[in-house]
Amino acid sequence: AHLARIEAVDEKVHAYLHVDREGALAQARAVDAKRAAGQELGPLAGVPLALKDIFTTEGVPTTVGSRILEGWLPPYDATVTRKLKDADVVILGKTNMDEFAMGSSTENSAYGPTGNPWDLTRIPGGSGGGSAAALASYQAPLAIGTDTGGSIRQPAAVTATVGVKPTYGGVSRYGMVAFSSSLDQGGPCARTVLDAALLHEVIAGHDPLDSTSVDVPVPPVVEAARNGDVSGLRIGVIQEFGGEGYQAGVVQRFEESVELLRGLGAEIVELSCPSFTYALAAYYLIAPSECSSNLARFDAMRYGMRVGDDGTKSAEEVTALTREAGFGPEVKRRVILGTYALSSGYYDAYYGSAQKVRTLITRDFERAFEQVDVIVSPTTPTTAFPIGERADDPLAMYLADLCTIPVNLAGNAAMSLPCGLAPEDGLPVGLQIIAPALKDDRLYRVGAAVE
Ligand code: GLN
Repeated sequence: AHLARIEAVDEKVHAYLHVDREGALAQARAVDAKRAAGQELGPLAGVPLALKDIFTTEGVPTTVGSRILEGWLPPYDATVTRKLKDADVVILGKTNMDEFAMGSSTENSAYGPTGNPWDLTRIPGGSGGGSAAALASYQAPLAIGTDTGGSIRQPAAVTATVGVKPTYGGVSRYGMVAFSSSLDQGGPCARTVLDAALLHEVIAGHDPLDSTSVDVPVPPVVEAARNGDVSGLRIGVIQEFGGEGYQAGVVQRFEESVELLRGLGAEIVELSCPSFTYALAAYYLIAPSECSSNLARFDAMRYGMRVGDDGTKSAEEVTALTREAGFGPEVKRRVILGTYALSSGYYDAYYGSAQKVRTLITRDFERAFEQVDVIVSPTTPTTAFPIGERADDPLAMYLADLCTIPVNLAGNAAMSLPCGLAPEDGLPVGLQIIAPALKDDRLYRVGAAVE
């Protein structure tokens, strides 16, 4: 049924980069066979899923939205991919994304943009716009995203779906193409809080193949999603998340959610986190710095595309020509910014300062979580903007992640879930819930209450 749905609508939405029809049917038949033989089934047996094209899938194309990996067939599965297969999930295909997960609109995909199912002329968020659009257009009931600065939560917000960035280290990064390794985190996307929890439980857990994977039990997310009791919970509202640049309808829906939580017995506490004002600036130094190092591996020798290898050019020239042709403008911009920020003479002024700001933001969160159990905010300052509107204005694009980025810098857990439509444009608004590291279950408890 999902393959038929994809056939019917994805020409318009363009959520998928690759539909693995044969692979999906084979997985589904294998589940049927297991069931018929009375064998034990995985926890999500037979449930279809859309996988962001940043996770390696053995023998199935993985492009990361980039020309440089066009045609590359990974020889191995990411840990997330393997865990999904072990849970008997049916992987329908790979979803569209901003190239190397750099962007907030999916317009930076080398394979063309994805439309927001609520209004196809608008962006579905990014970088995981394909996964969110697949959910919102009923082309998959579950999806996987990655969140470096908001790429799970912001697409969830603008498509009225649920997206969770787990605690940093909670879900393995092995086989997840690296953008900014100290920020990148894979996580679940779904249409309901409980669905997200069921998927979270399947993909989370310690992985010796990822050196930053945390070796602690997976938080009781499913139990929390079934509970939803917020009475007596202390919920923080951060004064720095609001004010100029926030759309009136977004603020209105956010304030209604806060009142709803108060009505359910939560205690609302106003807080200030002064360093959050500098989060965006710090992120746009740290993320490009790490990407300039991570993307060095795309040298035309190891993977994918190779341009100009005609026997007359040096390896260096072939690398340069391949990168020129294979990387899009945003990726080049970030590699240049990152290389500059890390270069001797500028390192302390840029990268060093950004790391200090990162510490201040972490401390702001620590202080806040001495007073509250979770924090809530709008997920994004505005609803989905029209495709093309911010394409030539990187700074305007970067503002989409104003509320999501501090969470990645500190390594906390956060969720976005729908909280109604903005009255002025009828488009979805997302509520963000933030929990301290390793307390991911609190997101699901509060999410279940709001939902
Ligand atoms: N929009 C942010 C960026 O462009 C975040 C991306 C992400 O989370 N992968 O870097």
